[in-house]
Order: sequence, then structure tokens, then C-alpha cells
Amino acid sequence: MPAARAVLLLSLAVAWCDASSCPLVPPHGLPWNYHDFDSWKDVPNSRCAEESRQQSPIDVYGEHCEDDFFKPWVRKNSDKWDVIVTNDGRTLKMMFDCFGQVADNGAHGPLTLISNVVEEEGYDYDLAEIHFHWDEHGEEGSEHAVEGERRAAEVHLKFKHIALAGVPFHVAREQEGALHALGILLTDDRHFHGHMHFPTFHLEKDMHHVRKYSSSYSKEIHIDELKDVLDTALENVYRYIGSLTTPPCTLGLPWLVATKPAKVSSSFLHQLRKLRDEHGHHMHRNHRPVQERRDELLICRHEG
Ligand SMILES: [Zn+2]
Repeated sequence: MPAARAVLLLSLAVAWCDASSCPLVPPHGLPWNYHDFDSWKDVPNSRCAEESRQQSPIDVYGEHCEDDFFKPWVRKNSDKWDVIVTNDGRTLKMMFDCFGQVADNGAHGPLTLISNVVEEEGYDYDLAEIHFHWDEHGEEGSEHAVEGERRAAEVHLKFKHIALAGVPFHVAREQEGALHALGILLTDDRHFHGHMHFPTFHLEKDMHHVRKYSSSYSKEIHIDELKDVLDTALENVYRYIGSLTTPPCTLGLPWLVATKPAKVSSSFLHQLRKLRDEHGHHMHRNHRPVQERRDELLICRHEG
């Protein structure tokens, strides 16, 4: 890691001592929505309107990478994990970064991503959050397109740099260099015969607990299945440097996007589509449009 970046991350870590801070939703709601993308530039610290660097999502396509050193992988740190499942009015998210579990020195999140997207030497990022993007129907709910094709939904796994173990995720996400993202496009298993099935931890059975905005519940999940899927997904991925796809669109975010979609059940997609925002409206179309691609930035495909 470049020294300047290390110092920046460390200073952020020292500034936060309240390790168990886990706000489920902002007290006055999120100051942005999926109806008015122009207003995203007015969110505090927004980088959403900056076109000089790559914004996400994009249509990912490109040549096979020649650099043999590139080989992201995940390490399982624990099997059982407590998560908080929350409807924040923009998405359904599973938060791993609560209860101080990730914050204790020496403790890690359930999974650690070792990736060398940023530097040739690999760096460790702990899984902090999983959330979803979807549409009311059809195959246009994903944010990324892979080789021109979108799918019904997309799951994002957000990993936080291990140097920031004590920094709450909602703070770290505004810091360039703090996170690493993995996206997997999801499709209805009735229409797709691929092998990879994304584990939804039986959320479809208890998602009614979070149908309303600002509701949440805790759940114990087993990590085994997730690790297996990620191992498979990381065999064939695109990588590029982009941004958060939600305000403040923090720049310089390393992305891995699986080249192949994973399956989820139609009942899972159905339950996502029943979730409501703070106005009681269906949380449909919670995806940012594909952004203009800056081809001068490295986007390449890794095949295992
Ligand atoms: Zn996302």
C-alpha cells in the first residue's frame, strides 16, 4: 500500500473508537432517491457528478488479463455469524459490521477478501455488508451489465480494509481506499440453467419482517455456502476501478464483477419486490443507470 494511503486509513481508524456503532437507517431518511439522479450531486461530499474518473456501474467487457499475479480469493474466518437484516428505504442489506464483531483487534469479518486489484501485492478486506439491487420484473434489475447483458438483480458484497476494523462501515464508505466491492448478477432460477446458486440464507422466508422502511431483525447465518459461491465467482471475474453506485459515489473503488450470473429463487426476487420505502411505495428500480465507460482505465477479464 502506498504510504500516503496507509496513513490516511490509519488516521480514520484512530478517529473512531465506538466500534459497535451500527446505525440502521439515518434519523431523517436518506437525502437521495432513485427518481432524481441529478440531485445526487447535492448529497454531502458527493463525487457523483465527477466525470473525470470512472463512475460505476458500467458495462464490463474486455480482454483477458495477461498479468498472472492477479488471483483474488477469500478466506473463511468463522462459520456462524450474526447479521442485522435491514430495510433502509433504498435496499435490503445484511450488515456484518455490527455488534463490534469486526471491530475487536485481531477479529475479522466472516470472510476476508484477499485481492490485488489496487497493487500487485494482495491486501485484506473483511466482509462488512451484503445488499441487493433489483427491478419490478424482467432482466433489467442489475446495475452492471456484463458484456452488454443485464440480469434480474445484482448482489453487492462490500468489504472493508482490515486497517479500518474499528471504523463503522457507514463512515468508511465515504473514504477513498477503504472498501473493495464484488458484484454478482442474479437471475431467476426458473429461466436460467447455470450452476452457481447464490445463498440467500432463507431470507425469502422471513423478509416480511423488513417489508416496511426502517425495520430490521437479527439472524444467525452459516458462512460455508457463501464462501463456496465466492470461490467459484472469483474464478472468472472482471476487475476495474470505479465508484460506489450510491451517493456519495466515493471514487477509486476497486470492483470485481463475476462474469457469470448466479441463480436465486423466484420467491426471493418476489419478496425483494414487495419491500417498501419510507413513503410506503414499492422499492422498485433501485439501480443506478450504467455510466459512461472510460476505456483508458484498466478493465480486464481474469479466467481461472
Ligand atoms: Zn450496491
